[in-house]
Amino acid sequence: MTLRAGVIGCGFFAHNHLAAWEMLDGVTVAAVCDLDPAKAQWPGAVSYADAATMLANERLDFVDVITTVDSHRALVELAASHGVAVICQKPFALDLADAEAMVAACAAAAVPLMVHENFRWQAPLVAVRDVIANGEIGEPTYGRIQFRHGYDIYSGQPYLRTEPRLAIMDVGVHLLDVARFYLGRVTRLHCRTQRINPEVAGEDAATITLDHESGAVSLVDVSFFTKRHPDPFPETIVRIEGTAGTVELRGGYEMRVSGNRPAHQTRVEPEVPPFGAKPWHVVQDSVLNIQRHWIDCLRTGGAPATSGADNLETLDLVFKAYRSAETGRAL
Ligand code: NAD
Repeated sequence: MTLRAGVIGCGFFAHNHLAAWEMLDGVTVAAVCDLDPAKAQWPGAVSYADAATMLANERLDFVDVITTVDSHRALVELAASHGVAVICQKPFALDLADAEAMVAACAAAAVPLMVHENFRWQAPLVAVRDVIANGEIGEPTYGRIQFRHGYDIYSGQPYLRTEPRLAIMDVGVHLLDVARFYLGRVTRLHCRTQRINPEVAGEDAATITLDHESGAVSLVDVSFFTKRHPDPFPETIVRIEGTAGTVELRGGYEMRVSGNRPAHQTRVEPEVPPFGAKPWHVVQDSVLNIQRHWIDCLRTGGAPATSGADNLETLDLVFKAYRSAETGRAL
């Protein structure tokens, strides 16, 4: 049976989701919705300007919410009230109360809820996770997960200029999720933020240190104002040290591993999807991967790796990071 999807929010990032749905077997985009009717266009899909009307009129298996954060709670609760499964883009919520309410609404309606936390599905980041999991570097003791660049993100996403909470909400959330993915639960965090570009309202750099329950420590840092050539955007730079070795992504899609096997270097660059282009292919490929995972979960009844409930732990770190930066304290 072909799953019928309804997409809500057809702006800057949505074309990646839409094109990825098109490529996947067993799913069709039945309806698209945007407040701006000119954007709510997709071949073969019925167009709507109002999500409530779309959900009332269409028989959908799930909705894919690709709007900015302020609208997430209303849209996720709307889908749950119709008994329809939901994917919601990151950042999931403006605060933990909203996030918990969405998780509770979907649990009460017994519908799956996944946060579109796609960094975990980036090919190079998955390759590092596989090295950690196969024991090659022993027990992880230290991690550094960085996303520092000078690419003009504001041209495609002009709303980011005026966000009072910028770098941690936009990309820090991904990196904190990857830190959990690699090193497990976080018990303590300290954060410093900077606003370097005077033309943006929020912090455009953040440096966060984490203590993990396992005893490992990590450094997560993000900057949207790093002058560096070549600019690594949009690659995430990673170094994980363990009791037996180190795995590194230093940019250029080479993964270096030195551990309890002979040192080796592996190419971890994903293919450019047919709808994609360099340098964004690593992100576009991850969209395809997470959406494929969602379809598998709907078909098998399995829980998505980045379920709403799982994302509460990542969001808790996001809001603690802001509180730590405001108070100067570790939390
Ligand atoms: P955008 O502003 O370009 O697009 C959002 C669209 O949603 C707009 O067209 C708007 O009209 C529509 N919209 C808003 N409220 C609506 C509602 N109630 N009903 C119907 N339509 C509504 O934003 P964007 O840059 O595409 O970002 C969307 C989300 O995707 C953000 O949360 C952003 O953080 C996230 N994002 C994620 C990644 C990633 O790699 N995971 C990358 C870019 C953006």
